[in-house]
Amino acid sequence: MIAVREIRKSFGEHEVLKGVSLQVAQGQVVCLIGPSGSGKSTVLRCINGLESYDAGEILIEGQKVDNTAASIHRLRTRVGMVFQRFNLFPHRTVLENVTEGPIFVNKESPAAAREHGLALLDKVGLAQRASSYPHQLSGGQQQRVAIARSLAMRPQAILFDEPTSALDPELVGEVLAVMRALAADGMTMIVVTHEMGFAKEVADRVCFLHSGAIVEEGPAQQVLETPQHARTQDFLRRVI
Ligand code: ADP
Ligand code: MG
Repeated sequence: MIAVREIRKSFGEHEVLKGVSLQVAQGQVVCLIGPSGSGKSTVLRCINGLESYDAGEILIEGQKVDNTAASIHRLRTRVGMVFQRFNLFPHRTVLENVTEGPIFVNKESPAAAREHGLALLDKVGLAQRASSYPHQLSGGQQQRVAIARSLAMRPQAILFDEPTSALDPELVGEVLAVMRALAADGMTMIVVTHEMGFAKEVADRVCFLHSGAIVEEGPAQQVLETPQHARTQDFLRRVI
């Protein structure tokens, strides 16, 4: 479903992606791990068109991701993204946050968007908070709303960029539980995370990125328990 081939990206003189390749089949969960500054967010941002890339190619279901308006529009509706910071609209209710995209971008009827939105809020355990405002929710609840908002666009894949890193430790579990359920439902996901327990349990594959290059990848158990590369071993020793 997602094919990233040898992409390169520089900011000025600084080459931050040095030929990154990544394949994600439908229904697969791939975790991307690596030190801060290794290029994890840039990879995700290139995949969903938030950032351009200088060389290589990215295909989503066979269609090339580039910076034409048509490509960007297609991406917005097909590939969801969940960030570390939830970026909910502060002056809209939880349900309005979830239905905004479907109504204004996907041109769904408000009634249909509302019905779907309520079902998704139920799925993330927040049906009873539909008319609350974001500031009335905990960080974990807000992130679950952000996941429901992403699902409301009926994406074919969702990219998660450290979705639990901004949360108090006691709120991490509820967000990971929602992500685990999504994975079990067959959602195609790329997850940048430092939650190695989650990666081990949920990921089909783990890719370790270092200085803009994937230096090791394989089945989650293999990469996380018996890493071959010295840089992976060193990174895992520090995070676990
Ligand atoms: P990670 O998510 O793994 O921490 P990033 O993808 O955010 O890494 O960043 C990779 C490198 O690219 C870092 O050195 C970062 O400073 C640099 N970088 C990211 N975005 C920009 C930008 N918009 N302008 C300049 N440098 C950037
Ligand atoms: Mg990042």
